[in-house]
Amino acid sequence: MSDVRDVIIIGGGPAGYTAALYTARANLKPLVIEGFNWGGQLMITSDVENYPGYPDGIMGPAMMADFRRQAERFGAELVTDDVTRVDFSERPFRVYVGDEEHRAETVIVATGASARQLGLSSEQTLQGRGVSYCATCDGAFFRDKVVVVVGGGDSAMEEATFLSRFASKVLLVHRRDEFRASPIMVDRARADEKIEFVLNAVVDEVLGGDAGHVTGVRLRSTATDETTDVPADGIFVAIGHDPTTALFLDWLDHDDAGYLVTEPGSTRTNIPGVFAAGDVQDHTYRQAVTAAGSGTMAALDAQRFLDDERHHAETAAASA
Ligand SMILES: Cc1cc2nc3c(=O)[nH]c(=O)nc-3n(C[C@H](O)[C@H](O)[C@H](O)COP(=O)(O)OP(=O)(O)OC[C@H]3O[C@@H](n4cnc5c(N)ncnc54)[C@H](O)[C@@H]3O)c2cc1C
Repeated sequence: MSDVRDVIIIGGGPAGYTAALYTARANLKPLVIEGFNWGGQLMITSDVENYPGYPDGIMGPAMMADFRRQAERFGAELVTDDVTRVDFSERPFRVYVGDEEHRAETVIVATGASARQLGLSSEQTLQGRGVSYCATCDGAFFRDKVVVVVGGGDSAMEEATFLSRFASKVLLVHRRDEFRASPIMVDRARADEKIEFVLNAVVDEVLGGDAGHVTGVRLRSTATDETTDVPADGIFVAIGHDPTTALFLDWLDHDDAGYLVTEPGSTRTNIPGVFAAGDVQDHTYRQAVTAAGSGTMAALDAQRFLDDERHHAETAAASA
């Protein structure tokens, strides 16, 4: 059985490493179980141009290596593996990596989310080379270019409308002729003269493997099965995100989509001593800088939680 830690952080993305940096500097000696795929979502992107402090931009993986190194510099201990089970029934909390048990007085959950993918191998090959999952992040790279947005929900409408600020043309591809998106969002997209709707169609392949960047998409009609190659410079897949919360759903309050619920203005979950930070509890902003910000909040919340408890214990002992 392991020693009881002050804090265990689950997840090695912007939120987890920032929580690690702050808790390490507060001398809480955090254990970061960073996941087999440490680095998180930014490991599949190329240029990040909107993280403050990098005026020339930086490649996503290089930025995450910087985050990780900075946390390690102050003594955060890293385990490059996935948590397989947690037990939050009593303190110390228990966190398992296979048979290995780790115990801690507080836990920060920062397991992030993942953008749903189309599931095409050409999509994988061209990720960060014209295939994107975030218009806020990558829209500005497509000034005066033609882009394809895939999806029929609110986020697809929002991404298409946002991209029309930069792109010369936005093709909104949806597999049906009805939308999950709210009518007001559809109307807004329809009113935008740069946005063209391509309905009853799916993307069969992302073109550009030979060129090393997206050159178009092969669309297949869901009505006739006919395929057409359409030139484009980028494709934004906007078919939703999944929070990585399966391990926590039996313990922590969550919304219908599985995002963890935290008290407004804090990272506190329904279990005192368990905090949640980053995309795992945020389906609104989903940016590296907001994830890092909430990692900071979680670190401070955990530190204050431990301080308050120790203060109460000391006061009780003194008055006994
Ligand atoms: C392609 C792409 C490009 C983007 N570009 C930008 C951009 O330019 N600018 C920007 O601000 N934002 C960008 N974003 C959004 C940004 O990446 C996210 O908002 C941010 O990474 C969220 O950080 P996070 O720490 O909450 O989670 P994540 O980055 O998702 O990290 C979660 C971590 O948890 C780990 N984990 C998961 N399950 C377990 C487990 N069971 N045990 C242990 N660890 C686990 C994962 O391995 C990962 O290390 C982009 C996103 C994508 C997908």
